[in-house]
Amino acid sequence: MENLKQQHPRILVTGGAGFIGCNLVRDLLLQDGLSVLTLDKLTYAGHRQSLADVLDAPQHRFVHGDICDGKLVPRLLREFQPTAILHLAAETHVDRSIDGPADFVRTNVEGTLGLLEAALGYWRSLEQSHQRGFRFVHVSTDEVYGSLSDGGAFCETTPYAPNSPYSASKAAADHFVRAYHRTYGLPTLITHCSNNYGPYQLPEKLIPLMILKAVEGQPLPVYGDGQHIRDWLYVADHTRGLRMILAGGQPGEVYLLGGGAERTNLQVVTSVCRIIDQCCPDLKVRPCEQLLTHVTDRPGHDRHYAVDFSRTQRQLGWQPQYDFETGLQRTVEWYLQHATWIEQVAGGGGLRRRVGLSRNGEP
Ligand code: NAD
Repeated sequence: MENLKQQHPRILVTGGAGFIGCNLVRDLLLQDGLSVLTLDKLTYAGHRQSLADVLDAPQHRFVHGDICDGKLVPRLLREFQPTAILHLAAETHVDRSIDGPADFVRTNVEGTLGLLEAALGYWRSLEQSHQRGFRFVHVSTDEVYGSLSDGGAFCETTPYAPNSPYSASKAAADHFVRAYHRTYGLPTLITHCSNNYGPYQLPEKLIPLMILKAVEGQPLPVYGDGQHIRDWLYVADHTRGLRMILAGGQPGEVYLLGGGAERTNLQVVTSVCRIIDQCCPDLKVRPCEQLLTHVTDRPGHDRHYAVDFSRTQRQLGWQPQYDFETGLQRTVEWYLQHATWIEQVAGGGGLRRRVGLSRNGEP
């Protein structure tokens, strides 16, 4: 991505203190040498510690703020003059969306709309040559397409069928992003990626949750029969994809990014257990797999996601570089080596408590 710096010297990243965001900010700063403005509300999911090594980097400015703040966002755009916005800020945990959809509507829908409105005002103020190069990349999810019922994979033309309040809120945001391109000409692009995993993911999500619980010798809770299939994408492959889309993607287009690694949840947990058994010979409970326990399924749990990313591959030359086994090994090792980060962002264990059943007649 040699020409990214010429095309996009200054990038605003929203949600840059979250899991994918912090990996992306780090790549933009350290690999691409860009100037980055990170805007993050620092909800329970966002942590300065996830950016500790680059927080005070000379090319980096961090702003603790809300994308819904209609005064702050236009001011930041005027001051920083970004050549692109990479929009990742969101409420992201499906189980939390089941208990409280309102926060998801506020940030994911209203926040995205506010950001689009501010971006449009800013974009219109630019000279024509700068308008042409400007990009608004909206990071969406494959979950907006619902659940595959008879195999196959999602593609760019798959109809939307969101099933959870989370995916419904992301779908609503996608429609506004598309509309701002069609109606006002704002150069927006939408990406749909599959389940990410890797360093800096909070232990409320499957893989880090299982790693931490296995190390602590606690039960490994698998929802339902564990046969739900996801396509797993290593986060570094995702951030490389976003940077390639920024460099070569076309406004108005949709890009799918997947890991080419479909696994049932049960297979994922078993793989985590195998790696931990190898890495931690001194654990009391071995093999870890005996900790596996089936718990009540998530209401409305989508059965199967898979992503056909062949068009992104053809058009931009992107494909994942990490196979699942390599990515997972690196991920487990990263968690085993980052006890301080885990303590800082998830000390107390609150994130590991089961949520998403409160409207199902269960505690
Ligand atoms: P995350 O939950 O780890 O991080 C979200 C970040 O957004 C946090 O830092 C949080 O503080 C920030 N944020 C939340 N509300 C905000 C607001 N109102 N204003 C400013 N900042 C706010 O999420 P993630 O897993 O890194 O996901 C990033 C994006 O990628 C999201 O848009 C998500 O929908 C999308 N996505 C994630 C995955 C995945 O597997 N993690 C898959 C597909 C798509």
